[in-house]
Amino acid sequence: MTASTYAPLPIDAPWVVLKFGGTSVATAERWRTILDLAAARRAEGARVVVVVSALAGVTDGLKALCTCASSEREATLAKLVERHRELMAQMQLADATEAERWLASLQALVLPLPSDEAAVHGQELRGGAPAPGGGSHTAWQSRGRGPSPPRYALGASPRLSRGERGYSWQAAVQAHGELLSSSLGAVFLAANGLPAHWLDAREALLAREVPFLNERARALSAQVQADPDPAFADALAARGEVFITQGFIARDGDGHTVLLGRGGSDTSAAYFGALLHASRVEIWTDVAGMFSADPRQVPGARLLQRLDYDEAQEIATTGAKVLHARCISPCRRARVPLLIKDTRHPDFEGTLIGPLPPEVAPSVKAISSRRGITLVSMETSGMWQQVGFLADVFAAFKLHGLSVDLIGSAETNVTVSLDPTENLLDSDVIAALAADLAKVCRVKVIAPCAAVTLVGRGMRSMLHRLSGVLAEFGRERVHLISQSSNNLNLTFVVDEGMLDGLLPRLHELLIRAGALRTDDTALFGPTWQMLYGGGMAPLAAPWWRGERERLLELSTAQAVPHAASGHLPPQAGEGTAGTPRYVYHLPTVRERARALRALRSIDRVYYAVKANAHPAILRAIAQEGIGFECASPGELDVVDALAESSASPRLFTPNFAPRDDYAQAVERGVALTLDSLFPLQHWPRLFAGREIMLRVDLGRGLGHHDKVRTGGTASKFGLPLAQLGEFLDLAREHDARIVGLHAHLGSGILDVSHWSTVCGQLASLAERVGSVRCLNLGGGLGVPSHPGEADLDLAALDAALAEVKLAYPQYELWLEPGRWLVADAGVLLARVTQTKRKGSLNYLGCDAGMHVLIRPALYDAWHDIVNLSRLDEPASMLYQVVGPICESGDVLGADRRLPESAEGDVLLIAQAGAYGESMSSHYNLRPLAEAAVIE
Ligand code: ADP
Ligand code: ASP
Ligand code: MG
Repeated sequence: MTASTYAPLPIDAPWVVLKFGGTSVATAERWRTILDLAAARRAEGARVVVVVSALAGVTDGLKALCTCASSEREATLAKLVERHRELMAQMQLADATEAERWLASLQALVLPLPSDEAAVHGQELRGGAPAPGGGSHTAWQSRGRGPSPPRYALGASPRLSRGERGYSWQAAVQAHGELLSSSLGAVFLAANGLPAHWLDAREALLAREVPFLNERARALSAQVQADPDPAFADALAARGEVFITQGFIARDGDGHTVLLGRGGSDTSAAYFGALLHASRVEIWTDVAGMFSADPRQVPGARLLQRLDYDEAQEIATTGAKVLHARCISPCRRARVPLLIKDTRHPDFEGTLIGPLPPEVAPSVKAISSRRGITLVSMETSGMWQQVGFLADVFAAFKLHGLSVDLIGSAETNVTVSLDPTENLLDSDVIAALAADLAKVCRVKVIAPCAAVTLVGRGMRSMLHRLSGVLAEFGRERVHLISQSSNNLNLTFVVDEGMLDGLLPRLHELLIRAGALRTDDTALFGPTWQMLYGGGMAPLAAPWWRGERERLLELSTAQAVPHAASGHLPPQAGEGTAGTPRYVYHLPTVRERARALRALRSIDRVYYAVKANAHPAILRAIAQEGIGFECASPGELDVVDALAESSASPRLFTPNFAPRDDYAQAVERGVALTLDSLFPLQHWPRLFAGREIMLRVDLGRGLGHHDKVRTGGTASKFGLPLAQLGEFLDLAREHDARIVGLHAHLGSGILDVSHWSTVCGQLASLAERVGSVRCLNLGGGLGVPSHPGEADLDLAALDAALAEVKLAYPQYELWLEPGRWLVADAGVLLARVTQTKRKGSLNYLGCDAGMHVLIRPALYDAWHDIVNLSRLDEPASMLYQVVGPICESGDVLGADRRLPESAEGDVLLIAQAGAYGESMSSHYNLRPLAEAAVIE
């Protein structure tokens, strides 16, 4: 369709601003996309302003032209000319006159003819006198209606002599990137049926006076005051329907060209959006939107589908280059929504930035980083509280035109950071500042540093989830920690060298800690890898999705008589409602068991029975050739009761158990693990002439929660290494032979290197003991629970252990996982009882509470929760999912996105196969949950 086929727009038709970044304007193919998008918006009834960047890399080239040796200038210019001519050829531009005029004007600016007059003449290719200074947009109206647009000086003043190339000249040179791309675009759009008026952005965008801005910033990082201006909008509407203009450039009060700072084309679009009070500003770039971290560094970063202005501002300011930091506030002030989209994939959803979306889970939204931060530390020898001290200090910053970002203070020290995106820093400025500061305090400049920032609304309420992140920083020196007073960010300033690999680690830790709520699908979209990674296999759907009908039937079935399951004490109540009910999927158990058995470095696997002692699960595990690790005589009884397990090896690993437990185990002939001096000191006869194993405490704990860390003095498990000598003496004295060493540091460990480290440590201890045959590495194999968390890499685990084994081939390696084998195999079905609205919160009550599944209350554990009755309905509500127990901690899941739910709906709580049923209780005298099995 050509523009002539469009019906004319009414005068009050809405405006849409489309901004295309450097890669989005760099090829003819992208220009076809621009054409399609602009034409589509026009066809939808909008007036369109297309704002373009320079072709990717061209601003860098122009900057190089400004700074390179004059001998290199010609060659650098030639490359830029070539680049544009190539694109013109690709675009099959019929008329290149305009673009050629800009190339000529550029040449005249950078390669002046023998006299300066000639250089000025070169500029005059675009016209002579600067526009009258200080014109407002309303003033523009009267000037702008004329047939030829007003002209602006490109920067070099006539007084400029050769070699004296000021900031204004630099601005003029760099402006050519956008002037060229917009000229090419105008011809291309018109030639392809969409007549677009070429608009000189400097007509509309006038830099404002910012106090204390130095000359350099005034020319290269200017700011524009842009508020909705109906007169401007009307004047433009009178002139046409579709426009193409430049990003990055504006004019100053004298009519000279100024720049808006690197990456500033986004901000140009925002200024146009605000002036025109557009219905939307669309930022088209090379990535689908704002992600939870820079996707080039963190492929697992999630697309942020919705953000409010404040969060987007914070993410942009703290380092996410995808949006220029200054582009949010004009849109926020004018209430214009911003949409970020990928030019190569217009079908990808993108990020919508607008007013605060209602009801969202508090979450860290993103983690960003900035390099090149300079810290200025000022030692004050007790002057901190002295009246006027800070005023003196900050006066020095003001004098040097430096804006301070972060501030940390102590009794005798004030440390501030200078951010290079807001300050045009160079060593001369810093040296001059330091000299002035030295008059009032002792100064230390620390550089280069990096600032790493966590952004999210309500950061304070997430602090308790950040222990893993703090531990990560705790390994290195943190110069400054700052929490913003708007409660939106938490920033750590560290040495720049520490950044390598840090962001992916932190991103993963934040997801695992439930601080980055990737489960909230209303906010967090797919990962960058899912969108662009190509090779990544889609995540396998959990088994229960395919068993939905069966599970719904089970939720209403009568309770299974206890004789059938036969392992739990009698019920306290009737329990005939069908819920709460655990359902176990044996194929999943078998699959997990086989995966462990396939590990070549592991000689024996024992299942930690405490995770789930359901007989059907124990049978399946025995059939797969896995042994049993029991922590009590009761667990030994359950295993002994099964015919299938008669040949299975057993381990008994009690902790602070009574003497009788050990005596029973000895009688049964079960391998026994001691973890303190006490049994050998007080009951030596039990162990005389026997083989025993020893559980040691390697001095540190690991895991997903304090309560599952089982190493270190604060934990009750294991023999401290300092007592090893004494233990060996006692064993020798009482003729007990130590044949195995055991260590288990905690649960939910996803870092493979943990096991190889433990294995290496145990092996070297074993050499000291002498009689050891096997090293038991414990369990703790992590099962990721949050969407987006990476799985434990079993192959990597195998490889890491194989390496240790190569060094110590004399030892068998054992593992004793519980959770890893059964967690995913179980779900808990619960029925909705009641709903309640309280303040801004929606409560969803169900018949399973902490008596049935205590992990959320005890460990802050995160279990996915879905409404099985309404699995396909949109998840439109944010719920606090709670149980019927008289405890405020009876919360199964906070801030869960679910369909609107009603009494009687069946909820499914996922990953409940481990430490669910086995930790359940009769609390409040409620009945225990039933269990059913899918074979
Ligand atoms: P354009 O040239 O279109 O203006 P930019 O290069 O300025 O594009 O911005 C897009 C780039 O921003 C992305 O390619 C990405 O590498 C980078 N980026 C940094 N942080 C983020 C983030 N949190 N989300 C998305 N992109 C980011
Ligand atoms: N071309 C300018 C730059 O590269 C502005 C922009 O692309 O946003 O910084
Ligand atoms: Mg950009």
